[in-house]
Amino acid sequence: MNGREVVGRFAPTPSGFMHAGNILCAIVAYLSAKSKGGKFIIRIEDVDTLRCPRRAAADIIELLGAFGIHSDEPIVYQSSRAEFYRTAVSKLSRAALVYPCFCTRAELHSDGAVHLPDGGVLYSQKCKTLSHEAATELAKTQAPSLRLSVPDEVIEFDDGIFGRQAQNLARECGDFVIRRRDGVYSYQLAVVADDGDSGVTEVVRGADLLYDTPRQIYLQRLLGLPAPEYYHIPLIVYGNGKKLSKSDGDSAARLLKSMTAQQIIGALAFAAGIAQDDRPCAIDDLIPQFSADKLPRTNIVLPELLMQ
Ligand code: GLU
Repeated sequence: MNGREVVGRFAPTPSGFMHAGNILCAIVAYLSAKSKGGKFIIRIEDVDTLRCPRRAAADIIELLGAFGIHSDEPIVYQSSRAEFYRTAVSKLSRAALVYPCFCTRAELHSDGAVHLPDGGVLYSQKCKTLSHEAATELAKTQAPSLRLSVPDEVIEFDDGIFGRQAQNLARECGDFVIRRRDGVYSYQLAVVADDGDSGVTEVVRGADLLYDTPRQIYLQRLLGLPAPEYYHIPLIVYGNGKKLSKSDGDSAARLLKSMTAQQIIGALAFAAGIAQDDRPCAIDDLIPQFSADKLPRTNIVLPELLMQ
């Protein structure tokens, strides 16, 4: 780690309940940083303010506190950092890598669109060739989103849990949105800018974001930010393989009404392979024995104790 201080983070989007999978991510992110003598920070990813009521952020912070998870630095709220993201976009624009896109959702998803694993589509680059004049004319009646050009290049990285990963940006990701047409900066842009600004050295998060990582590494490179280490945690699923979602119960807040935080930590830590049994325990008790190597690469089944 080049002698850099380890800085880990948990960066929830406060748009719904925290379920057991979100809590496991927070637990592992905290343990990973603390087991290396590092710092742990919480960032609230409420860049899309309309989807993220302020109350939900306060609830998450309180909930994390109940599990013994606190931020070592003042909590950053993305909703207050538009100016910072604007500066990052200017930097990318100066490198002539950003272009306005006027395509509607229907156009993007029209027949023949190449679908991506994350539910999006590979951008056809239709607006990339618009002349400055044509774009200025269109912008008089409709606000464009901003897209970042990606190269025909394979980005590789070693994930601390899933191992070697590779993605060809042009073929498997495509030019992606860094600012939406409503002016909201994208998750991709904000997460990279903020991790860089906070000196984050390790990103521990759900495996659903493994696919997003190569384009974030590309963004880091363009913004001149150091690359953190990545650890993507397998998702928690029900016994039938169905994914937990933020809306369908098993919310951590509800679980806390019928059991203690220590019981939940014990059950999750055992299910994830980072504790030898599911005895209730305080999060800090798990620091000495923590190693990301213990986590599986396959989905983790929600412990029965937490199924209610
Ligand atoms: N805010 C994202 C989420 O709640 C996580 C972002 C990240 O950890 O990079 O899904």
